[in-house]
Amino acid sequence: MTTPQTPRLAPIPASLPDSVPFVGPETLERRRGAPFRARLGANENGFGPSPAAMQAMRGAAAEVWKYGDPTSHDLRAALARHHGVTPGHIVVGEGIDGLLGLTARLFVGPGDTVVTSAGGYPTFDFHVTGFGGVLDRVPYKDDRQDPDALVDRARETGAKLVYLCNPDNPMGGWHEPEVIESAISRLPDGTIMVLDEAYGEFAPALPQIDPDDPRVIRFRTFSKAHAMAGARIGYALGAVPVIRAFDRVRNHFGVNSVAQAGALAALQDEAWLARTLAQVASARRRIAAIAEDNGLAALPSATNFVAIDCGGGGDFARAVLAGLAERGVFVRMPWTPPQDRCIRVSCGPDDQLDALAEALPGALAAARA
Ligand SMILES: *Cc1c(COP(=O)(O)O)cnc(C)c1O
Repeated sequence: MTTPQTPRLAPIPASLPDSVPFVGPETLERRRGAPFRARLGANENGFGPSPAAMQAMRGAAAEVWKYGDPTSHDLRAALARHHGVTPGHIVVGEGIDGLLGLTARLFVGPGDTVVTSAGGYPTFDFHVTGFGGVLDRVPYKDDRQDPDALVDRARETGAKLVYLCNPDNPMGGWHEPEVIESAISRLPDGTIMVLDEAYGEFAPALPQIDPDDPRVIRFRTFSKAHAMAGARIGYALGAVPVIRAFDRVRNHFGVNSVAQAGALAALQDEAWLARTLAQVASARRRIAAIAEDNGLAALPSATNFVAIDCGGGGDFARAVLAGLAERGVFVRMPWTPPQDRCIRVSCGPDDQLDALAEALPGALAAARA
């Protein structure tokens, strides 16, 4: 007779519930037995990567038998020039999500407090919990994260880290540079701001932060404006001793060679980025117009997505989302009230937004019925 085996997990994971926080569109397509007509749920950039980046990645494919450069030397050098810092201020990793995991591993031990926003981008929360950290959540204010309240809460709780996403996912709003700069100036001793700028390229302006300031780590990605989400590559910018600490825990061969080559070419293709930003701005206007045509309000956005207020509570928005999925349109929505009265629609090419325009009236009618 065989005894059922319980895996002998380490204490922290053993204490966590089973969880699949993100159900991917591929899983949803398998469940519904048909592909989506429009893939507008994950803030992927359907306008596509730079042709130069694609060419570089095709070239790198033949060399993929080699491990990638574990220091991402060429990309870090180019990023350093781009940001006016030294390569020692930059660590390249497997997307922001991977780097957020390393950040939690570096700074969060069992019982350490991390301050974040209720209903904000959830990935960092999972990493913090996975290392035994304790989350303290501050509400949004007027559909934006509240930098001053986050810093106040960090002071009250003695938090080691405070997470701020600017521009914000899932609501799309952003703060003027002075607001972020002032919050940084008010950080209590010993608190580091984890500043997620996944949508930084879309922002009208970003804060000026001394690259040697040890109180802030900024996070950027090639997934959004550069349309390389599947390549899994992003970077963190911070003071040299803070960035050097990542070498203690990172997966040194984790950034693949194809992604490194593609990111380098994408960074250099400034014309493509400018073209993308114009396409995204125009898609944002169109999504807002589609919302208005249906009697709904679009929230202001400094990202490549638009939050649409469905005008009811969370259950109503969830019904609209389900109705859109039934009609072949994949979108997502915030998880927490009051933000969950909205659905979140990623920018994409016209044919994708045509599908949204066609599906939304029926989805709304079904949700109201
Ligand atoms: C998309 C997103 C990320 C994930 O970025 P990757 O580099 O693809 O891991 C991180 N933070 C926010 C706020 C995002 O919206």
